[in-house]
Amino acid sequence: MRIDPRKCVACGNCVAVCPMGAIAIDPVSHRAVVDEDECVECYTCYRGMSREHLNPAVVRAIRGIARLVRFRFDPEPDVCPTGAFAETELAWPRTVRRAFSDPVVPHESTGVAGRGTEEVKTNDVTGRVRRGEAGFTVEFGRPGIGARFRDIDRVTRALAAAGAHFEQANPVTSLMSDPAAGRIRDDILGEKVLSAIVELKTRMAGVPDILRALRAVAGEVETVICLGVSARCDAGGDTELAEVLRAEGFAFWRGKTNLGLGRPLWGDAA
Ligand code: SF4
Ligand code: SF4
Repeated sequence: MRIDPRKCVACGNCVAVCPMGAIAIDPVSHRAVVDEDECVECYTCYRGMSREHLNPAVVRAIRGIARLVRFRFDPEPDVCPTGAFAETELAWPRTVRRAFSDPVVPHESTGVAGRGTEEVKTNDVTGRVRRGEAGFTVEFGRPGIGARFRDIDRVTRALAAAGAHFEQANPVTSLMSDPAAGRIRDDILGEKVLSAIVELKTRMAGVPDILRALRAVAGEVETVICLGVSARCDAGGDTELAEVLRAEGFAFWRGKTNLGLGRPLWGDAA
């Protein structure tokens, strides 16, 4: 994202809008500037703010005069008064930032917008996680911190070594140069995104290995990680997952239960 310095009047409205804190008012030039390394191309500023198209020179003059008489001339808080945001044409590998961070852009690899995956929520019909298996969603980043692929790569390699099988219909997996080793392609490792979800599964007996690997590597990365685990319920609606998670020192909250109302697309409905 770019801010046109000829148009910006340094009102500061956009500073609070950016979820990555990537916009600041330069005290020397008196213009808003975007820190390109921190900007994740989420387009919150570009799309989220109303735009007026006031003449920048006139606005600056009025603001200057108003300041002299201790009066403020500020736009409404959700408005860029001069329409100073300008799209930049993104090239690879920077396009990855927008694909993962702008919720209205679908991922090329899956056709799903946002973070690009339906996750296990549609397991009734996709059958990603079968009986005797455990599915994991490992979420990296949040507004305010984001996540770099360098850190995601560090974790996915540790998970692969612990026996993880990465979900194919997932945008992070599609960016792996070696999915068996959990290795993400070198040219995107420096790219930063708002958040990304890694999905994998293992046999139920392998759950402790995955949890331990995740715990060991989590302290080495400069982002936050949220973990979700899923499994098929038995006829009574229970799963052994709760016990396994607690035994490994993880809290267990039952978040969502799919009722099995869909028609499985994968043949074996067992
Ligand atoms: S809202 Fe617009 S005019 Fe105000 S600081 Fe940001 S870019 Fe500049
Ligand atoms: S595109 Fe997103 S991250 Fe970049 S400056 Fe705008 S709001 Fe901030």
